[in-house]
Amino acid sequence: MNLVNFRDFGRGNYRQLDDYAYGSGGMLFAAPQLKDALDFAASRHEGVKPFVVYPSPQGAVITQEIIETLANHEHVVIVCGHYEGIDERFVQKYVDLEVSIGDCVLTGGEVPAMLIVDAMSRLVPGVVGKGKAVVEDSFYRGMLDNPNYTRPAMWEGLGVPEVLTGGNEREITHWRRREAVSRTLNRRPDLLARASIREYISVDVSLAVIAADDCVNLQGVAEICRLYDLGRPYVVARTHELREAMKARCSEARILGSVRKVLEREGDDVLVVRVFTGARNNSLHSLELKRRCIEHDGGILFVFAQNDDELEGIEGISGYLFGNDEEVPFCAKIGIALDRFLGKR
Ligand code: SAM
Repeated sequence: MNLVNFRDFGRGNYRQLDDYAYGSGGMLFAAPQLKDALDFAASRHEGVKPFVVYPSPQGAVITQEIIETLANHEHVVIVCGHYEGIDERFVQKYVDLEVSIGDCVLTGGEVPAMLIVDAMSRLVPGVVGKGKAVVEDSFYRGMLDNPNYTRPAMWEGLGVPEVLTGGNEREITHWRRREAVSRTLNRRPDLLARASIREYISVDVSLAVIAADDCVNLQGVAEICRLYDLGRPYVVARTHELREAMKARCSEARILGSVRKVLEREGDDVLVVRVFTGARNNSLHSLELKRRCIEHDGGILFVFAQNDDELEGIEGISGYLFGNDEEVPFCAKIGIALDRFLGKR
């Protein structure tokens, strides 16, 4: 990390960096001096265009995703403002990203810069002793961390949850996941809406598609299943001709005559999630769907149908994807829905 002293780029006898803001009278860092300092910073890493970040209360509120994006750049320059801030033309021409550390106003960008550097450095291998800890922290997988405890096992009348001292790894993992999800749901439901639940469900997840004709892109469906680690897809085709046509087209799909036959293979404890295209009565909010999937102990089966009505008679929980009138190819719908649940961050 290189520190560039902005004062070195002051102009005139007083090494002036700031000037009165037109219209308001407050003080601003001036664009020419900022540009000189930026050129100097860039020269320290020649051949690489720096990614310029300006911490500002007007920026996007910083998130773990932004930190991870910054950490992927080879050279990041953070420009700290002061007083009323910096000349807007410098922002227009040279700033790639304005980030805020929250809805409050600080005197300068130094503390936000420290925050950014600290969060970025945790992602550098070796900075945090136990690399796995980084992945388990709040926000890394889009959820809050579970509560943590250390010795003594009893303190001021408060004990440690029994499961943590029991030594059963499977139960501990399960407990940690549940706690993380319930905390996220209670405190930051907005995070759960975006989070992938893949890491939080240890059971098998499968996919079944109810076909109405042979226009389903089976190869595409099979590829989506591979992408999300779902095993070979089930395809339910009601007629013999349709089943034969489908078998001829895709050897990867498991083609059966009814949803009942799929359930026979998946077992009694499978949680069926029916995904409608348009809003339906009794369909659950996606947050609730996610919560139920995570809490469920058995396997999970996502069921899609070319024709939504085919899903009506099937027992299970349901959610929906779009408004009714949205025309999205069937295979893309499946990809979009699965990505909302299982998409890798
Ligand atoms: N006039 C500016 C405005 O209203 O947007 C505020 C300027 S602030 C007093 C001075 C500097 O502190 C800013 O240029 C910025 O670098 C930094 N700063 C203040 N609050 C911040 C926040 N919430 N997030 C990031 N940087 C902040």
